[in-house]
Amino acid sequence: MARARTSVGTRRWLFGDQLGPHFLGSAQAPGDDGTQPVLLVVSRAAFRRRRYHRAKAQLVLSAIHHRAAELGDRAQLIVADTYRDAVASVDEPLSVVDPTSWAARRLVRGLGADVLPSRGFVSSEAEFGEWVAQRGRRRLLQEDFYRWARTRTGVLMDGDEPEGGRWNFDADNRLPPPKGATTLGLPHPWQPTEDDIDARVRDDMRRWETEDGIEFGGRAGPRLFAATRAEALAALDDFVAHRLAEFGPYEDAALTGDWAMAHSLLSAPLNLGLLHPMEVIDRVVAAFRDGPAPLASAEGFVRQVMGWRDYVWHLYWHFGEDYVKDSNALDAHTPLPPWFDRLDADAVEARCLSSSLADVRDRAWNHHILRLMVLGNWALQRGYDPQATTEWFTRNYVDAYPWVMAANVVGMALYADGGRMATKPYAAGGAYINRMTDCCKGCAYRPGDRVGARACPFTAGYWWFLDRQAPLLKGNHRLAQPLASLTRLADRAALVEQEDARGDTAP
Ligand SMILES: Cc1cc2nc3c(=O)[nH]c(=O)nc-3n(C[C@H](O)[C@H](O)[C@H](O)COP(=O)(O)OP(=O)(O)OC[C@H]3O[C@@H](n4cnc5c(N)ncnc54)[C@H](O)[C@@H]3O)c2cc1C
Ligand code: SF4
Repeated sequence: MARARTSVGTRRWLFGDQLGPHFLGSAQAPGDDGTQPVLLVVSRAAFRRRRYHRAKAQLVLSAIHHRAAELGDRAQLIVADTYRDAVASVDEPLSVVDPTSWAARRLVRGLGADVLPSRGFVSSEAEFGEWVAQRGRRRLLQEDFYRWARTRTGVLMDGDEPEGGRWNFDADNRLPPPKGATTLGLPHPWQPTEDDIDARVRDDMRRWETEDGIEFGGRAGPRLFAATRAEALAALDDFVAHRLAEFGPYEDAALTGDWAMAHSLLSAPLNLGLLHPMEVIDRVVAAFRDGPAPLASAEGFVRQVMGWRDYVWHLYWHFGEDYVKDSNALDAHTPLPPWFDRLDADAVEARCLSSSLADVRDRAWNHHILRLMVLGNWALQRGYDPQATTEWFTRNYVDAYPWVMAANVVGMALYADGGRMATKPYAAGGAYINRMTDCCKGCAYRPGDRVGARACPFTAGYWWFLDRQAPLLKGNHRLAQPLASLTRLADRAALVEQEDARGDTAP
């Protein structure tokens, strides 16, 4: 049915990651004026293409259906096979905020929608372009981007100087977990109460599985992440009140008995577009200014959102559409073994890997250090195919979208771009995992053993990786010391034989 035009003009097509009020309104006046009609689409083909984790599918579908319910008769929600089918059935002009993937950008342009500049990040694409131009031939370092963004926005600045006189509080942050602790002892993180919409989404998913051949992975559990703006604000309040103060010090630590540690769990609502990163940053800065958050924690958090999140977003566009497809600098072609692919944590004895996989299986989430230094490190050491690994992360994480995969998985975790993003591969042995987690206690392996029945597969895997990649990595001065140590390893040949023999069996 045709609708009258509103002050903001056209019906706004909202993608499933554009669900907050800041995706409505004009380019000059973003926000919800309470009248703009909206189109929301659920494409079944998107779920047929990939075996998504059921927690991820549940979250995304719940968020879209909740948004439609909130908007009432302003929203037209179409469940169709494809986006094209859905849009073809709408007889009004559509406008859309530039979406978050190369494929979606092509689609909206092909369908003739009026495309507005992207939203949902601290720096615009034009501003990032200015920064790149200023850099000339210098590397696009995250730290420099972050300082530029802080200076530009004035966040945690004291005139031209960083608040507290330092840009970086790493010396206060990044502590190992407290000795002997099994948890950080913080209150359980905020969790939503599921409602009728969640129940209907679960019914739909069951029907798709039985009638439509759509397959989901992972285990079903209660929804853990915010799917509405009200829930997202409640999750933000909870983080600021109960966990922000400890965020900095324990940012890089992991305890097997504490899946959330002091992390915010806000990546999912941020990436669904339910929160604007700047409002999250403002809350965190206010918690520092008015107490109780120490500067090191507030800065550590702002660095993650204004620095890292924006940086990986802009690199997705800067590196170009073929970046994931064309990146395989380490010539990694091992297919993901079925136990890894299917999140079979019980098949794995290595405690760090087993508990990280179990987190993904049960919650479709784990925190940064487990993604990078356990799961990503494992995929790097074992030479898993970068595209298959990217797919694995995309399917299995509640907060995963193509834009966030490129720099994090291909660039940072796998070094598949040969150093365009990271200055060296994030390969590490069991000593790092032993220092930053409690996993090694009670593990079948010993982090200090390189060969033999109890040789730690991460420690052995680290040297095995260097042995394999030495010719390619020998020009990297940050690896000069480990590569020199490799040549002095007395058990190098035995270690290589041992790891070659491991093949794709679960460690
Ligand atoms: C291999 C790998 C895969 C990752 N996949 C994703 C992903 O699919 N989606 C995702 O949002 N993040 C991803 N990250 C980044 C980071 O691990 C998650 O953002 C974080 O663990 C989410 O939990 P949190 O909200 O509690 O984060 P916190 O630790 O509380 O951090 C605060 C916020 O900072 C942002 N952030 C921090 N680091 C990054 C980063 N490197 N890239 C993007 N945002 C960042 C997130 O929005 C996060 O919510 C990945 C990192 C690696 C190494
Ligand atoms: S000993 Fe090795 S495999 Fe076991 S938990 Fe420690 S790092 Fe992981």
